[in-house]
Amino acid sequence: MSINTYEALNAKVGRRSFMKMAALASAFGVTRSFASTKVTRNATKSEIKNPFPNSKLVKTICTACSVGCGVIAEVQNGVWVRQEVAQDHPVSLGGHCCKGADVINVIRSEVRLKHPMVKKNGKWHRISWENAIEEIGTKLEKLRQTAGPDSTMFLGSAKFGTEQSYYFRKFAAMYGTNNIDHQARI
Ligand code: SF4
Repeated sequence: MSINTYEALNAKVGRRSFMKMAALASAFGVTRSFASTKVTRNATKSEIKNPFPNSKLVKTICTACSVGCGVIAEVQNGVWVRQEVAQDHPVSLGGHCCKGADVINVIRSEVRLKHPMVKKNGKWHRISWENAIEEIGTKLEKLRQTAGPDSTMFLGSAKFGTEQSYYFRKFAAMYGTNNIDHQARI
């Protein structure tokens, strides 16, 4: 991708200018609709970064919660190398919360958990999803029988969509408890 194409896609607002806008917006109590007001401005030449050689820009969404804010991922040889906000995203309108601002680091983290793991004799071992589900299910059932269903609490995820929240609630009810909440509350 040429620098011109890259600039055309990113010229509206770079990360640094976005941070300035966000600070300005919060100082004046402006909501996320600031992205569609005159508070925004085009990035200056010095704020537009050089693209990685042969990189491409991919529209995607933040994976941290189910709001689904827009992210522009710069990808080089299949590796996500840099991110920008998506000004034209219909939900976030160029806004991010602090979790979305560095979602690239969640993806690239060297300590990212990619498989079910179990700790045995002080060491972590990879196990299959089938074994993980079987092990957790067995422990939950044993806990319910020995200590009762209210000994367990179910904690939902900000990643859940409406349908996932629905069946997670149903699962807790099937287990026999009202102890269910959402992680954002804590
Ligand atoms: S974590 Fe923040 S940036 Fe990411 S989707 Fe949710 S609100 Fe948007």
